[in-house]
Amino acid sequence: QVRVRFAPSPTGNLHVGGARTALFNYLFARSKGGKFVLRIEDTDLERSTREAEDAVLQDLAWLGLDWDEGPWIDGDYGPYRQSERNSLYKQHAERLLESGHVYRCFCSSEELEKMKEVAQLKQLPPVYSGKWATATDDEVMHEMEKGTPYTYRFRVPKHGNLKINDLIRGEVSYNRLGIYLCHFHPIANWKKNSMIHYNCVLKVSWNLDTLGDFVIMRSNGQPVYNFCVTVDDATMAISHVIRAEEHLPNTLRQALIYQALGFPMPQFAHVSLILAPDRSKLSKRHGATSVGQFKEMGYLPQAMINYLALLGWGDGTENEFYSLEQLVEKFTIDRVNKSGAVFDSTKLRWMNGQHLKALPSEKLTKLIGERWKNIEILMESQGSFIEEAVNLLKDGIDLVPDADKVMLNLLSYPLQETLMSAEGKAVVEDKLSEVAEKLLAAFDSGELITALEGGHSGWKSWVKDFGKSTKRKGKSLFMPLRVLLTGKLHGPDIGGSMVLLHRAGSEGIVCPQVG
Ligand code: GLU
Repeated sequence: QVRVRFAPSPTGNLHVGGARTALFNYLFARSKGGKFVLRIEDTDLERSTREAEDAVLQDLAWLGLDWDEGPWIDGDYGPYRQSERNSLYKQHAERLLESGHVYRCFCSSEELEKMKEVAQLKQLPPVYSGKWATATDDEVMHEMEKGTPYTYRFRVPKHGNLKINDLIRGEVSYNRLGIYLCHFHPIANWKKNSMIHYNCVLKVSWNLDTLGDFVIMRSNGQPVYNFCVTVDDATMAISHVIRAEEHLPNTLRQALIYQALGFPMPQFAHVSLILAPDRSKLSKRHGATSVGQFKEMGYLPQAMINYLALLGWGDGTENEFYSLEQLVEKFTIDRVNKSGAVFDSTKLRWMNGQHLKALPSEKLTKLIGERWKNIEILMESQGSFIEEAVNLLKDGIDLVPDADKVMLNLLSYPLQETLMSAEGKAVVEDKLSEVAEKLLAAFDSGELITALEGGHSGWKSWVKDFGKSTKRKGKSLFMPLRVLLTGKLHGPDIGGSMVLLHRAGSEGIVCPQVG
């Protein structure tokens, strides 16, 4: 059975990159009839908080990425927080100690520091020297009797190569030099992202013992991240590990641990980075990057989902508009792109507009209406008025909060300013007064008001007659009418605006002060 997991560390907000990883896991699970598991990776006790965990879970729920097992929803493979799984890690660490894949290392931190310095002097990578790898039982007993603190170190095989068949990247082969370059080499570090990105580091041939035996359990009994992840994925029966590309170097250590524990290896799929428009790694300095921020700005979850799916995935057609259900239907992992995807906030905004327009009218009305009630834009407004307003202005907005501005704009009448503007002056020169005179007459006689009482059709027949009597049509009719009636040069459909303004007037709907 397909079982995938999303494993956030609750140390901060859910980033768009994390949300996309969660989405791909979700789509993979749902498209295969499998399970989507949520695991909280809170081994970093100092930085992990319950508040952050709750916020991440809420963001995932808001996106509609409901999980089958995890916090809030119990399953057969719990507990689902790493901080509650310590005894399991301990048990497997002991197993590895017994099988000889792990040994006790009694080196003090000063000793380890010295080792690094020596290596540096020799221009060698700063790896563990292997001092306790070959200790005799007596030597170990002696230290234990003295009560010297010790870590559990994983015995990395001294020869061989490891290949991972990544579902997105194809064959990824590791070698010690490669890992060395990824992690420590100053030049590689400088270009770290792009090097991992192009896989070139991972193809350098094996010639240096640079991985070094690594710690899996600290002297205080606290298991180390890579060990926890492996034990968890194995004991939670995870079949596919879909995660960010930056975890590729971890995959090597995890694969070695899998082999040592005798667990079957899951299939791996490493998703490329999300990049900023300048192709650097997307970060806070590029603007909003967390799901919560987009939520606050008024983005719709379905638009976020749609946009995130297109960051590195496409079904091969021109289509860009998908619901979550459609994505489940179309998603295949082999269509996930190897190269980094650029996060384009303008496109996300546009996409939100598309989803907004596709919402059923009652739904959009509810969303906008709730907002207006909250911020008291239309104190007295009734449901049907809002519905009419929403239908009028939905084409001109990309985000729900945009509606406030459009509405405020509609209800205001800045005629003076408009006439002072260059564009306004052009309209005045275009014999605005001729239209104005006739329009004034239509007001005075009550003719226009009567027409507006007849709603849209009333307006239509009135404007037709008005055009005839002024011998104007198209822009030369509607532009002066718009300016005179709304005080503005631009806005939603003029007929719709007039019917709505008339209603606002007769129903006592008032426009609050802006700003
Ligand atoms: N906890 C890791 C993170 O938040 C994910 C590790 C994994 O997916 O294996 O980046």
